[in-house]
Amino acid sequence: MIMDLPEGKFFMKSMAQIEGGMLEIKKLERFEDLMYELTYAIRKRRCIYCGRRLSKETSTLDHRYPRASGGISITNNLFPSCSKCNSAKGDLVHEEYLCYRSIKSKKQQKVFLKKVRESREKIFREKGFLLPSWWISYVDLESIQYRRQKEELRGRRYHRIAEFYDIYGKLNRPVIVDCNSNLLDGYNILLYANDMNINIIPIIRLENVRLLLKN
Ligand SMILES: [Zn+2]
Repeated sequence: MIMDLPEGKFFMKSMAQIEGGMLEIKKLERFEDLMYELTYAIRKRRCIYCGRRLSKETSTLDHRYPRASGGISITNNLFPSCSKCNSAKGDLVHEEYLCYRSIKSKKQQKVFLKKVRESREKIFREKGFLLPSWWISYVDLESIQYRRQKEELRGRRYHRIAEFYDIYGKLNRPVIVDCNSNLLDGYNILLYANDMNINIIPIIRLENVRLLLKN
């Protein structure tokens, strides 16, 4: 897929720049920070829900597809919002939240949330996460280029993946790679897939992003 990029110049010191329509990444350590910077370079600082103007201090970034449903941090999935709207939205998808807000009665809101929970369960069992299917492809684990860390710490993120897999039999999010299949984000997914001999994994390939350092 093509990731949303700012139209003008973008330059993040010693980390990334845009060259000929491609985002070139020099350092990977702060991938999420880079995505946040890019998002603010693309979108206005206004809450997407209530329209309030936001300052650097009052702005948060909402995951259109929530993290809890596999919502990854790339610009296409990030929208400025005030903290009040962002926390009220919780684990709902953008459109679900708009629908939820329009419901007047508390009782009907409860019914709505119950339906959402049920549909999530179904999606987790079928696919593992809730993201547009055209963002995703399924590839051989071996085709992804990445450097294995010397000390492979299996921390909280790893265990969350394991717990989810135990219940649903699926990976809970795709990994993100650049145009040359270099890993950008999702190391723990790869670690877990390797441990469990899961050979085919879901990825999001960002065709207009290139990692300059060798993985
Ligand atoms: Zn708001």
